[in-house]
Order: sequence, then structure tokens, then C-alpha cells
Amino acid sequence: MSEKTIFEKILQGEIPCKPVYEDEYTFAFNDINPQAPVHILIIPKKKIVNVAESNETDIEQMGRVLYTAKKVAELTGIAKTGYRLVMNNGDHGGQTVYYMHCHVLGGRSLAWPPG
Ligand code: 5GP
Repeated sequence: MSEKTIFEKILQGEIPCKPVYEDEYTFAFNDINPQAPVHILIIPKKKIVNVAESNETDIEQMGRVLYTAKKVAELTGIAKTGYRLVMNNGDHGGQTVYYMHCHVLGGRSLAWPPG
């Protein structure tokens, strides 16, 4: 069996985090190295490596991650001004943790295009 990712350890309470929101399907917590005043990570409770490795049985979990993004944006007060959702996928996409996660970034005006 492959080694646990840092996010499995967070989900299982082995590594501390600052939780923001949790429900039956998803868990949201603050990024340890925030790139904006609000920077939250949302993970599905059932492990998916990334979008590229997802399959049809993951559709519900993936939809739940997006819907949780809406909720955490409302909870943290960034819903009105706007925010960005990012899912880095694979090496060139900048993915460093191979457990699917959605970044929710907000609280300031964000530049485009990304680097
Ligand atoms: P990725 O580069 O895979 O899209 O994003 C991984 C994110 O996880 C990064 O933004 C990084 O700061 C965050 N991260 C890495 N290790 C930890 C940790 O131990 N705790 C928390 N809360 N975030 C982490």
C-alpha cells in the first residue's frame, strides 16, 4: 500500500490543522502557507488522487467539493467580492500533494494569468 499523503493524515487527525467546515463528504481547512488573506483547502473524504485519475464513481464527491467551496466562501465572507477556485493537477499543474484538493483563494484581487 502506498504511503499516506499529508491530507490523509490531516483527515485522520494525525496532523493538526485549522478546520473551517466539515460535512459527510468533505473537509475544509486553512492552507498552512496562505497565498491570499483567505486560502482554504477542500478535500473529499473519500480519497481521489486528482482529476486525471478520477472516474465516474467519484462524480458525487467531486461535485460536493465544489459545493463546499460555495459554503466556505460564504462562511469566510469572500462570497460577495469574489474568489478563485484552483485544482492543480499533476507535475506541470503544480500539484504537490497527491490527494485531490480545491484551493479557495480570496480576500484580495487576484491577478490573471497565473504563473
Ligand atoms: P498543491 O500544490 O498540491 O496544489 O497544494 C498543496 C497545498 O497544501 C499547498 O498550498 C500547501 O501550502 C498546503 N499544505 C502542505 N502541507 C500542509 C500541511 O501540513 N497543512 C496544511 N494545512 N496545508 C498544507
